[in-house]
Formats: sequence, C-alpha cells, structure tokens
Amino acid sequence: MIGYAFAPQTLRHDPPPTMLRTAGAAVALGEDNIAGPARCAAAHELVEASGLLDRLARLDVAPAPDGALLAVHDAAYLAALEAASAGGPWAFDFAPVTFATADAARLSAGCGVAAVDAVLDGRVRRAFAQTHPPGHHAERALAAGSSYLNTVACAAAHARARGAERVLIVDWDVHIGNGAEQIFADDPSVLALSIHQDGWYPDHAGDVASRGADSTTVNVPLPPAVGDDGYLLVLEAVVAPIARRFAPDAIVVAAGQDIGIFDPMGRMLVSAAGFRALGARIAALADEVCEGRLVVCVEGGYSLLYAPLCALRVLEGIAGEDAGVADPFEGDAELRAAATPPDGRLDAAIERVRTTHSRWFREERSHR
Ligand SMILES: [Zn+2]
Repeated sequence: MIGYAFAPQTLRHDPPPTMLRTAGAAVALGEDNIAGPARCAAAHELVEASGLLDRLARLDVAPAPDGALLAVHDAAYLAALEAASAGGPWAFDFAPVTFATADAARLSAGCGVAAVDAVLDGRVRRAFAQTHPPGHHAERALAAGSSYLNTVACAAAHARARGAERVLIVDWDVHIGNGAEQIFADDPSVLALSIHQDGWYPDHAGDVASRGADSTTVNVPLPPAVGDDGYLLVLEAVVAPIARRFAPDAIVVAAGQDIGIFDPMGRMLVSAAGFRALGARIAALADEVCEGRLVVCVEGGYSLLYAPLCALRVLEGIAGEDAGVADPFEGDAELRAAATPPDGRLDAAIERVRTTHSRWFREERSHR
C-alpha cells in the first residue's frame, strides 16, 4: 500500500502576484503568484478524480511537531515566521508571507513527517506528500524561493529521531536543494544529494565541489535540456551507486516538477512519462537499498498546464499504478524533444561528479 499525505488547509497560503513597478503605477502579473496554490490543488484533484486516491492509504496530517522543526530551523527564525504571518515584519526576498503562511508551511512540513511515520511504522510501503508551499530552499534561518520551512529536511530529521541511522535526500527539483545542504552540512548521517540545472537560482550555489569530496553533500549540476533518458542516466550513474554505498535506512525525495518540459522556471525537458519513470526508478532503488522505505515530497513546479500531471505521474511511478489520465501533449513535438538521447555534455557533467566525489564510486565500473 502507498501512503498519500495532503492537507487542504495548506492551499490557504496564496501569496500576492508579482508586481512590475513603473514610475507612476504598479502592474500585477496575473491574479496569482507563480507559487500560488493552484497547481497543488489541481494535482490533488487529479489524484482524486482519477480514482487513484481510492487505492492509496490517505494519511492523517498534523502540523509538523516542534521537535522536527527545531532540528532544522532556528527557534528565532520560527518565531519570526509566526510573527510575520500575524502582520509583523519580514525581510526575505521571493518568499512573501500572508496571514496563512506559517500555518500552511507547518502543515506542509507535517505532510512530510506523516509520510515518514507511516513508512517507518510499516503502515505503508512508500509514501507521497502533496505539499504546498515548497520547502527545499529554506535554510536554518532563511526563507527563499517560495520556501519557508524545509519539508524534506524535517522529514529526514524526523526519520533520524525515530531511529533511522542514515537518511539519503535526493532532490531533483531544477533548482538546488540549498536548504538541506546547509542544514546538514556538518551531519554525516544525512546525505544531501541535489540534481539541478547548473548556474540556476540561487546564484553562486550548487557547485559540484561546494563542500568538498569528504562531505555528505553531493551536488550534481547539469546542462539544460537533459530530457527523460538523461535523468534516468543520472539516477543510474550517480544516485544508485551513492545509495548503495551510503546504505541509508530511508530515502526522502524532493520531487520538483520544474524539470518538466513546459515549466517556465527551468529548461530541462522532462515529460510526464519521464516523471513516472523517475518515480518507478527511485522506488526500485529504495527497494534495493533500504527495504523500500521511501518518502517523496512535491517541491517546485510552476506550469499550471503541466506540473499537476507531472506530480500525478511521479505518484503513479512509486505506486506502480496507471491512473488513466492521458498526456494532452501526446504525439506533439515537445514530447519528442523530451525523448532526445543524452549527449556528451551530460556525460561530462556526470563524469565530473563521479571524479570529484570518487569515494562513492570505488569498485564501480564505468556507467556506460
Ligand atoms: Zn525549483
């Protein structure tokens, strides 16, 4: 059975649209913020309307407990977020706060915690958290990139507190998982592995060697236009060998949909079918290295047109299910682009990671 964590109250986090300011006026870019709740709402609706929800174990969700939050965030930062949601000051760019933000972020992190509990209790084999807002850019005392509380970090810390000796975080959002990198920089029990577009938000982040070869930070910066097969190659050539050698007790995935082919914030060309394949591959890897203990959390995804379907496909992949929802772009040129085979630039990027972080790849043959 696959667990499914979603809390409708998280959709109350509905930040205002971005404004372009001129000398005399301000122009709103649409009615909603690009990180508004519409994609999460549609993604959940798809799971429900398709009938897939009936075949999943719906998990009870509560706000993330203080222990999980304080393991990854400073108390003063948590207090500042609460105060800002009550109308107080807030100083962080690209992370606007409304009256609902603190509660929604805490509940979103709670989805990750509920997923961990269900998996570690053995109530479900794997679990999927339909989270909003995202969390992977949030550091110990920093909100950034539409992230306030770091859901995957809370999930990993909660798993540790419950007895998991080692936790592997795999972040395939198009942006670096800078939050987990910073939060667990000095903690060898959590390996923060981020696959992201090279030279993307935030600036000066995500270099392959950012914390050195002896650390448990592994950054995998990739060229644009990697496509479906390219991501699967990265899972085979980088993620799988590291998972085998690190031997985690659980894997937590930050499954951003912004590597999707229609996403306005990334340039990675992954199709919905590609997301299903990624979900299936990471589930098989969890089966191989940690008795299936897998928690997958939604992260960034900014195409209202496509991100909800991509989230559904990831869930289908980890559940081994087909919800029967057709890709509206089936047969179109874009999807053929997603199927373009990996090229030499990707091979070079993978080789750079394997050389820099060679300790994880000893006794491994060439990846091709
Ligand atoms: Zn992102």
